[in-house]
Amino acid sequence: MSATGNLVSPADETGRLALIAACRELPRLGLVVGTAGNVGLRRDARHFFVSPSGVAYESLEPEDVPLVDLDGRWYGRCRPSSEWRMHRDLFRAKPWVGAIVHTHSREATALACSAQGIPPFHYMVAAAGGEDVRCAPYHIFGSQALSDAALAALEGRRACLLANHGMLSLGANLPAALDLAVQIEDLAAKYRIARSAGDLQLLDHTAMARVLEKFRTYGSSHAIDDDLTHREDWPPRAAEEDAAT
Ligand code: 13P
Ligand code: ZN
Repeated sequence: MSATGNLVSPADETGRLALIAACRELPRLGLVVGTAGNVGLRRDARHFFVSPSGVAYESLEPEDVPLVDLDGRWYGRCRPSSEWRMHRDLFRAKPWVGAIVHTHSREATALACSAQGIPPFHYMVAAAGGEDVRCAPYHIFGSQALSDAALAALEGRRACLLANHGMLSLGANLPAALDLAVQIEDLAAKYRIARSAGDLQLLDHTAMARVLEKFRTYGSSHAIDDDLTHREDWPPRAAEEDAAT
């Protein structure tokens, strides 16, 4: 079944299979127990795939993955995740987002149960796009109020916690959204351990601004390091030989 009838395009089949693979990664990565979580994948400007509500990931078949549009119409044989509003509102508000992961992972959720986000206790907090990871206030699951609160907490960010509920991560694609979810879970664990070990030294605004600037090129060939020179020639030569030529 597809938005256009009974014919499923190869691209839609691929998208649904990728979403199912991402759902099955969640328990393997320790991010989900049971069906407490959901995954969204943008299909085009007006449609997205989302995991079906309450269906065990292991039994998922491509035809079980519903397609939803920005007007709240859904297509397929299984009802979309109860959090479809959150997925819809994020895909609508953030054109760069290609995939969304929502989980009730242990560490992030335990922290969110005190309605606290993650402050800049470690520079990797910048992986979520800002100086902290915010925690959206509690609203019942599946509600428009929860979606609104999540959208606000994600202003300028790629991840947030949801009070007394879980976490959300965004990515340009499924691997990026999954990877960020793993990083947020790890940060929440490190934050708990660091707090239990004693007083924390939080990084200040200037320190985090420098990290965020450095992250703009981190991992690319344009990464900034004034003491590092890229050489195209081979074999390597001593610096003195270079100076002599
Ligand atoms: P769904 O199974 O409807 O996606 O609900 C799981 C969930 O995490 C609700 O917040
Ligand atoms: Zn949830």
